Parts: sequence; C-alpha cells; structure tokens
Amino acid sequence: MKKYILDLTIPQFRTAANSIIKQDYRLNQLIEWIYVKKAASFDEFTNLSKELRQQLDEKFILRSLKIIKKEKSLIDGTIRYAFQTEDNKCFFAVFLPAKDKNSVCISSQIGCPVMCEFCSSGKIKLARNLSRGEILEQILQIENDVKERISGVLFMGMGEPMLNFNNVSLALKSLLSKKEFAIGKRHITLSTVGIVPAIEKLADDNYGIRLALSLHAVEDKQRKILIPNNLGFSIENILKAGKYYLKKTNSRLTIEYILVNNINDSTADAHKLTRILRHNDLISPDVQVNIIPYNPTAGATFKTPPQETITKFKNILKVNGITTNIRQAKGADISAACGQLGY
Ligand code: SAH
Repeated sequence: MKKYILDLTIPQFRTAANSIIKQDYRLNQLIEWIYVKKAASFDEFTNLSKELRQQLDEKFILRSLKIIKKEKSLIDGTIRYAFQTEDNKCFFAVFLPAKDKNSVCISSQIGCPVMCEFCSSGKIKLARNLSRGEILEQILQIENDVKERISGVLFMGMGEPMLNFNNVSLALKSLLSKKEFAIGKRHITLSTVGIVPAIEKLADDNYGIRLALSLHAVEDKQRKILIPNNLGFSIENILKAGKYYLKKTNSRLTIEYILVNNINDSTADAHKLTRILRHNDLISPDVQVNIIPYNPTAGATFKTPPQETITKFKNILKVNGITTNIRQAKGADISAACGQLGY
C-alpha cells in the first residue's frame, strides 16, 4: 500500500524511503519540494531523475485531499474551502487574506464531539480525527490555490484540537520546523474549549504558540447553556490552566468570549469577567479578551446583541485595564465566519 507522505515525520519518511533514497542531500531536496516549495505532484520535483520520481510515485501519495467546493466572499476576499478525504468525508478550511499577513483557519477533526449550542460544527457528529498530513495539507492546498504566501495559522476550524492532541502536536512540530513550514510560533494560534490536562501538556511541550481559550461565560451554569458538554472542566480550572500556559511558555493568551444577546452580555457579566480574570492574575499585557459577537447559525435560537451592548461590554473591560478586541466577522456572506463551518 502507498504511504501518505504528509502523515510521516521526517525520520519516518527517511525510513520509509530508504530503499530509494540513500543520501541525506537527496532527502533534504525532497523535504524542500514537499514543505517549502509545496509541489503538488512528484512530476514537479525537477532536480530529481525521472526514475526516482517514478519510484516515489509507486511508494507514496503526496496529496490525499480534494477541494470539492470553493466560495469567495465578495465583502473581504475570504475563501471557504470544502475538502473531501480519501474515505469520502468532508470538512472545511478558510483562507483569510490581509495586506501584511495571510492566514488560514484549519480544521483538526471531521465534525466535533463537544457540540456547543451556538456552533454549526457542533451540529455535526464527530466522524474522526484528521491525521497529521490532513491537517498540514489544508495549508499546502490553499497556498497552491491562492498563490500567495501564508504566514499565519489558526487552529479554529472544525473540531476540538485538544481532543486530537497527538496529530495536532505532530502538525505543530512541522509548522514550526525551519526545514518544513518555518512559520513563526507567534503566528500560530490554537483555540480550545478548555481541555485542562491537554492545555497543561501543551504548556509543558512549550512550542510557544499562542493559546486561545473559548471561555464564553462567567459562571459555570451560564456556560452550560452555551456548552452543555463542558467535559467536566470549570471556568476556574480553565483559567488556571491558561495562567499555567502563560507562565510556562511566555507566550500570549487570548480569552474568547462569544457575546450572545441576553445570555452573557450584561454589564454585570462584564464586571464579573473582570473579577474572575483579576482573581486568576490574568489582567496583563500578555492577555487579550476577544469579544466575538455571535454569528448566526442555521436552526439556532440565539441572537447577536445590538451594537451598543457590544460596545458597552467592551468599554467595561477596557476601563479595567483589559486589552480587548472585538473580532470582526470575516466571510459572513459565505458562512465562513466563526461557528459557521457546517454543511
Ligand atoms: N474547538 C475550538 C475551536 C472553535 S472555533 C474551541 O472551542 O475553541 C473558534 C471560535 O469560534 C471558538 O471560540 C468558538 O467558540 C467560536 N464560535 C463558534 N461558533 C460561533 C458563532 N456562531 N459565533 C461566534 N463565534 C463562534
């Protein structure tokens, strides 16, 4: 059976290819074609002999995903991609163009086991984890398609990355490796619903990437309305894990707070958020609160708060010394904004 190259770490690839690649410089040329030049087929490996290219083709697969749908936002140029896997499953990734830095928002699972009430990915039952290769191939394919360099990666697509810890870790190593993607650690952000032991493990692994915590509420009872399956982790424990991450990695922490009309958007909620952040020693220049006004999803009863409510909430955090940002929805016309990656 052919092996999927992107699923293999470099040492694994070296072993798998040892009958046809004998010298290190050859291996390095291959790695460069795959991860740096991002060639989409072995035919493009032009400094290798035809014979070697053929041998590679007999042993390995370079691409396993197919782009089956592509929609581009007329508002901001965001592109939503639907990928099909070899086993005929479908998931999404989003290209987010910007003048100074193009980013991609990628998926880590097909479907999601957490099932947040406000999120359309949560309406899709978990089919399976994405592999190392499938996580990375999203970036390669999008970069090939848009023909522009991608320098930012957000683990904020479908799925809960901390429930696919091993493959996400393998992908992170490749993204950070100088010989592979060579993306700066500050340009990678991983968003999690708050799987405490996994956050602690990620802190100990110390890749230095940015962490975003989907807090979304100030009391556990309120959080349960939004995230019925909190997997047993309280707000207090999640914030403690965030603090641990910050201390261990010297990186930055983002607290994500989806703002939903009449659920978690009162001035009392804003004051309570300030208190719990202060209590956990999380009011600092390294911590930013991202307010995400709820993006409508099919079938949900939630509403986006009016603009005044959003501004008021933000101002309360600001006067309390909290760096606060309101996340602008991207690609809303093509359902590519946060929480809209459903079928
Ligand atoms: N599983 C990860 C990644 C989710 S997507 C996590 O839970 O963090 C990234 C962010 O978008 C999360 O904070 C998520 O809660 C938020 N989100 C999901 N649905 C949304 C919606 N309908 N409107 C606004 N934000 C949403």
